[in-house]
Amino acid sequence: MIDYTIDADGICTLTWNVADRPMNVLNLASIAAFDAAVNRAIADTAVKGVIVTSSRPEFVAGGDLDLIRRIRTAEESMASSGPFSRTLRTLETSGKPFVAAINGTALGGGLEICLACHRRIVADDAKIQLGVPEVTLGLLPAAGGTQRLPRMIGIKAALPYLLEGRKVAPRKALEDGLVDEVVPAADLLARARAWLLAEGARAIVKPWDAKGFKFPGGAPQTPGPTQMFFGMAGALLGKTQGLYPAPEAILACVYDGCQVDIDAGLKIEQRQFARLATSAATKNMIRTLFYSMGEANRLAGRARDVPRREYKRVGVLGAGMMGAGVAYVSAQAGLQVVLLDTTAEAAARGKDYSAKLLDAQVAKGRLTADRRERTLGLIETTTDYAALADCQIVIEAVFEDRAVKADVTRRAEAAMAPDAVFASNTSTLPITGLARESSRPAQFVGLHFFSPVEKMPLVEVIRGEATSEATIAHALDYVKAIRKTPIVVNDCPAFYANRAFGMFPYEAMTMLAEGVNPHLIENAGRMAGMPMPPLALIDEFSVELLYKALRQRRIDDGAAYREQPQDEVLVTMVEKLGRLGRKAGQGFYDYSPEGKRTLWPGLGELYPRAGEQPTVDDVRRRLMYSQSLEAARCLAEGVVSARDADVGSLLGWGFPAALGGAISYIDTVGAATFVAECDQLARRHGERFEVPQALRDMAARGERYFAEG
Ligand code: NAD
Repeated sequence: MIDYTIDADGICTLTWNVADRPMNVLNLASIAAFDAAVNRAIADTAVKGVIVTSSRPEFVAGGDLDLIRRIRTAEESMASSGPFSRTLRTLETSGKPFVAAINGTALGGGLEICLACHRRIVADDAKIQLGVPEVTLGLLPAAGGTQRLPRMIGIKAALPYLLEGRKVAPRKALEDGLVDEVVPAADLLARARAWLLAEGARAIVKPWDAKGFKFPGGAPQTPGPTQMFFGMAGALLGKTQGLYPAPEAILACVYDGCQVDIDAGLKIEQRQFARLATSAATKNMIRTLFYSMGEANRLAGRARDVPRREYKRVGVLGAGMMGAGVAYVSAQAGLQVVLLDTTAEAAARGKDYSAKLLDAQVAKGRLTADRRERTLGLIETTTDYAALADCQIVIEAVFEDRAVKADVTRRAEAAMAPDAVFASNTSTLPITGLARESSRPAQFVGLHFFSPVEKMPLVEVIRGEATSEATIAHALDYVKAIRKTPIVVNDCPAFYANRAFGMFPYEAMTMLAEGVNPHLIENAGRMAGMPMPPLALIDEFSVELLYKALRQRRIDDGAAYREQPQDEVLVTMVEKLGRLGRKAGQGFYDYSPEGKRTLWPGLGELYPRAGEQPTVDDVRRRLMYSQSLEAARCLAEGVVSARDADVGSLLGWGFPAALGGAISYIDTVGAATFVAECDQLARRHGERFEVPQALRDMAARGERYFAEG
């Protein structure tokens, strides 16, 4: 696991090689092996200096999250993270020089090894990433990262690394002081050796272990940093709404830990880490952002017996907002794209969208002009269906109109290869119905992208009644090829994401109609951790679009349509007031020409405050529970799996990661409590809060959706 060699000059090399794992990771076994190797080198009188490196492409990729997942108590946390932190402190104070020869990516605990060493030399390879990204999973670097980084590069420079999880390439790391030297990869070990022999002996005491240590940029209690801390703490609270404990814990480590000596600081770090490792928010983030999303990206549910489809060429019908976006992400992934519209001009406009996005990247220096040409060259525009002949998948994004969709389906299928997949990007029309217009419904599937396509990472793969397992597998292969995250959804009205997310704005409009103060509604939405308050979100999306969808549903369902409390709000806003949303300059908010928004004062007259106002917590609960409840209904109906429901809620509509997702949130609240509270809400506010039987049964059995941890 850690290869140990020593040469004639007394230079010992410790080489990371965790052969039983796909990457070098820190787990109980590798940490123990590293500790043994470090102590052996220290004890060995023949050793004059030590190189720490790796024989694999990465240096050390980080900690094994399985370890953290199992932690239940603060004691277990200390027992799990303490030994590694102590090993690094032993290494640092051993009296022998250690140099990190960083041959590949060093993240989290991997970088912390380097920080503990007396010098850091890194190979000049722009693909190497250096950073402590623990915060993105609700954790903090617990092997000295929060203590050594500020002492090395100053508090101001260290905080973005710690609080944002910033990862950088070697040259930027050198600029910021994370490493001491960047050298050609071939010279790495020789350079490390030369440094140990020439200078190692003079560098064995770290500045913070020497007398008279001065914090670079000022100690935390000096005026500059103190002001910065207070400013940041306030800004953080605004951003996290108190839902995310990791950034606050990191600030506490830096602020408190940097006012004491490093050994005391390391203890503070251990205690803060224990707080995080046992918190529900962190467990939720690790479960959904790491495990569930990892499984979705690996296509864990894909039928294994269907051979993987390697995509080369795709067709896109309709070069409007969505079609242009799909063409762009496909070309970005190196696929040839046939982009078809009714006129050559419309198709060309769709391609222009890609040109603009690529130009912006060139302007920022992120893309070469040559790459831009090549990517844009992959998109061929046409009005001729014959061009679809060699496409392995054709995705339609034409008008949301059954007749138009039926027409393009027939035309495309007449031109397509027999084994090609036809996908519809409809947002509201059930796939099973659309597939009736197909001559081969088994190869007809839904691919529901979100807008803007180039930014939104989620795609819902919709299985119609006739869709074959092979088609689902091939659709998943395509989503993976364009580097998006797929979830599989069984056909139902609005599919999964829009159906569950829709409850958030609907419940807000319902409360508005009841006479709840709109400021209260918006604040509660914000404090719940949603990316945007609900009424602002409706404006952003367009009040008119929701109104049109309502009108369509009324027509589709005819006499069976049951009026919802929010319907009246949409009708009033659009038909009576013409307040159509942000694009129209007025909706639930008024918009100044500069885009500043203020809640429309007229809302108060339209829906006068009725009775006693609810508390923020009441409002928050209604806004959040309604989403989770709809997700639970989707589960009970077999529309989606618990894992995909969580992933879909985080990536599709920004449900707060600290809550783990729409389903994990029910586990976090506790199923029994959730059911009892929904029963109360149902009594007070109506049947939309009725709990599906499957959830009620689960709560009665004392079970959870996900195993604990
Ligand atoms: P859009 O109006 O911007 O684009 C539609 C394009 O289809 C236009 O360029 C039009 O010329 C073209 N078109 C129309 N009839 C055609 C035909 N017979 N043959 C070829 N091209 C034809 O619409 P959009 O917002 O891109 O939506 C397209 C589809 O994607 C709709 O089904 C919509 O429901 C769905 N969708 C939209 C969103 C969204 O946020 N806008 C999100 C998910 C899914």
